[in-house]
Amino acid sequence: MTRRISVLGGTGSIGDSTFDLIRRAAPGAFKVVAITAYSNVDKLAALAIEFGAEYAAIGDPAYEGDLRDALSAHDIKAGGGRNAVIEAGQRQADFTMAAIIGAAGLEPTLAAVDQGRTVGLANKECLVCAGDLFMQRVKTAGTRLLPIDSEHNAIFQVLEHDKPEGVRRLILTASGGPFRETPFDELTKMTPAQALNHPVWSMGAKISIDSSTLINKGLELIEAAYLFDRPECEIDVVVHPQSIIHSMVEYIDGSVLAQMGAPDMRTPIGYALSWPKRMETPVKQLNLVDIGALSFFKPDMIRFPGLDLARTALKQGGAAPNVFNAANEVAVAAFLNGRIGFMDIPALVEKTLETQEKYTSFGQALMSVDAVLACDKAARRTADELILTLKL
Ligand code: NDP
Ligand code: MG
Repeated sequence: MTRRISVLGGTGSIGDSTFDLIRRAAPGAFKVVAITAYSNVDKLAALAIEFGAEYAAIGDPAYEGDLRDALSAHDIKAGGGRNAVIEAGQRQADFTMAAIIGAAGLEPTLAAVDQGRTVGLANKECLVCAGDLFMQRVKTAGTRLLPIDSEHNAIFQVLEHDKPEGVRRLILTASGGPFRETPFDELTKMTPAQALNHPVWSMGAKISIDSSTLINKGLELIEAAYLFDRPECEIDVVVHPQSIIHSMVEYIDGSVLAQMGAPDMRTPIGYALSWPKRMETPVKQLNLVDIGALSFFKPDMIRFPGLDLARTALKQGGAAPNVFNAANEVAVAAFLNGRIGFMDIPALVEKTLETQEKYTSFGQALMSVDAVLACDKAARRTADELILTLKL
């Protein structure tokens, strides 16, 4: 049976892996409904034409004309601007891949959630900035949420979903990023090019920087708490540089179940695309003999304070994860533009949290999109001001 699928953020790294699998699937296995991008209009148009999409939406309205021109000879509807991307999420699909980067993906992803079908969630920031609201909408719509993030996909695969009382803790693995062994005093000098050079995973720019600060693991900690309904104290993080074990679930009888595989996002993406069945992927077969040994370390909280900041934000709950995420998005963009240094990223997140806590009641859950977006906007303004006044 043909599965109708939409890819929000189709021109990014997750989009590339998703379309790679769709290209390899049996003819007629998938029908592409909608694809979105922000500004990469050429790639969006090429994908829409290649896959015969029904609808293509470009987030930056400045490119709407170019998109229409590129698609004029094809029977593909084009749209531009934020509402067009939301409309892409609303178009009836059996499966939506939510792969926009950042809180910008919240509204289109919620539109897909509201359809009550299946959503593959890669866009972790939209869950971090609006976890309470997001999970409530998933429940109300009866949506099947399949995690794409490799750690959460691993947990999803080994979790006894119908027996939560048997679970003792979730153990997220972290590669440790490119600076795992960099001495503390050298970290301040790390450049965007060095931070983008991830030792194991090939990913988009923002998540690569998040991996280098370990803030990605902080976002994933919050993501896991919402996805699997577990308190912060039941989620551990262990550094595992080979990234072969993608995460684990420990049960009360002492059993620890892990999901393993070569580090390639096409495994979790393929899992979600074909769920509840399995599909073949071109992912390299795991050869444990070649790998020889797997190693594990405690995360270094002195060099990577972002993970602890995430823990605190998760414990505070309510608006705190939203502020954590917004401040980090501003910090990563500022670091990539050369405006702040590497260690300023966690410092800016911490200062923004401290400042916003004076104005916002962190304990209160943000239960409407307006409340989420207002909190996000205020935190971004504060983070921007802190950069300008260099109050880091
Ligand atoms: P990329 O930066 O490679 O791609 C992001 C996509 O979102 C692009 O299609 C981009 O369009 C679009 N986009 C960017 N900004 C906006 C905006 N303001 N409004 C609408 N669309 C926008 O990111 P990744 O594919 O690496 O990551 C996507 C999500 O998946 C992130 O949340 C990330 O944390 C998560 N993830 C990624 C993994 C990976 O291996 N890459 C692994 C696990 C999770 P354009 O191309 O036009 O800029
Ligand atoms: Mg991950």
